[in-house]
Amino acid sequence: MSTIQETLLDHLYGSPTAYQAVARLKEKLDSQGFMELYQNQSWDLKPGQNYYVSANGSSLLAWRMPKDKATGFSIIAAHLDSPCFKVKPNGEIYTRNVVELNTQPYGGAIWSSWFDRPLHLAGRVMVKKDGSVIAVPMVVQATPLVIPNPAIHMNREANNGVKLDAQRHLLPVLGLSNQRLPLLRVLLAKELKVKPDDILAHDLYLINRQKGEVWGVNKEMLSSPRLDDQACAWLGYEAFTQSESSENIPVLACFDNEEVGSATRQGAASTFLFDTLSEIAAAVGGSVRKLFANSLFLSCDNGHAAHPNYPEFDDPTNSANLNEGILIKHNARTSYTTDGLSWALFAQICEMAEVKTQHYTNRSNIMGGGTLAQISLTQVSMPALDIGLPQWAMHSSYETCGALDIASMLKAMTAFYCTKRSLSEDSWVLKS
Ligand SMILES: [Zn+2]
Repeated sequence: MSTIQETLLDHLYGSPTAYQAVARLKEKLDSQGFMELYQNQSWDLKPGQNYYVSANGSSLLAWRMPKDKATGFSIIAAHLDSPCFKVKPNGEIYTRNVVELNTQPYGGAIWSSWFDRPLHLAGRVMVKKDGSVIAVPMVVQATPLVIPNPAIHMNREANNGVKLDAQRHLLPVLGLSNQRLPLLRVLLAKELKVKPDDILAHDLYLINRQKGEVWGVNKEMLSSPRLDDQACAWLGYEAFTQSESSENIPVLACFDNEEVGSATRQGAASTFLFDTLSEIAAAVGGSVRKLFANSLFLSCDNGHAAHPNYPEFDDPTNSANLNEGILIKHNARTSYTTDGLSWALFAQICEMAEVKTQHYTNRSNIMGGGTLAQISLTQVSMPALDIGLPQWAMHSSYETCGALDIASMLKAMTAFYCTKRSLSEDSWVLKS
């Protein structure tokens, strides 16, 4: 039987972009008897049934309807996108006999980690077929691409902090050719077995397809592309499908576009979550306001572990170690939504589940990042907190976390879904 670490690595490999991640999640949910709903159709939600709906093929919400009454929602939210590069229209750039692709950065990657390694194209392609246009998710198999470094002999400052220009230095090489042909379109057409003219448009990204691995003298580490944040999304899915229903309606929310601000129709800033939860509330005969007030939004997005080579980045009292527990993330600017109440509530859930937790804050002189919970709460007013796996090298093309923390996160998420609770403005009751 596969370990949770192995199934996670399989999922990360099979999900180079949010399109593949959603397609995989749909397949898994279908096999477990979930029914797909569509945003442009009427819904007839039945007690005890399991459902999911996607937006743009790159965000997905899944939930289980209660058999009778419901008191609130238990939501695990994570994001499916990771920093990378998006291919522009008219992609080919010809310099001498070299064909590069014109790309622009998607999110804030550590660019240096993308040099001199095989990269692939993945995303979706819009294809004309039988009088209609269909979006085809695809990972281009034909060839890897490479962003080559200049030699150290040309750039003696290569190890002293190099300023990179996204338009000049980060373009991937597709191949060599002296002919000015639409090489990308030809390549896509060949792989999709269609005519080049039938390819109308694309959302293609340059991604690292390297398969991750468990490593370390005691197999205690796990490295892979896209740990931030598909690891949390996958563990959320596992916890969601393994948990027994409670009177809090379990919801899995996987969003696209967190790395670029979430302000898309499928992003956390949209009404996708609100609209869906409102329909569920109507079906169970509950008030949206009351159900939201008794809900808990668990935003799961990785944070930082203390780095042995850079102790100067650690907060004096709230830095975390790999494999010593999942992170509860705090920020005074509320870029993390954790407050005293949600912190204490979640800490109690973890204590009951025998899962270790660690607190994470940025040093006060480091700005730090944000995540989707703060943005989601502008649409759905409910108690929330931010948690995550501690990891190194966030936004590198290859990231590292602790293998034991993976299992701890799954245990904590499962306990979160299973715990019955009632909340009020300033107190709560946990019921076993
Ligand atoms: Zn993230």
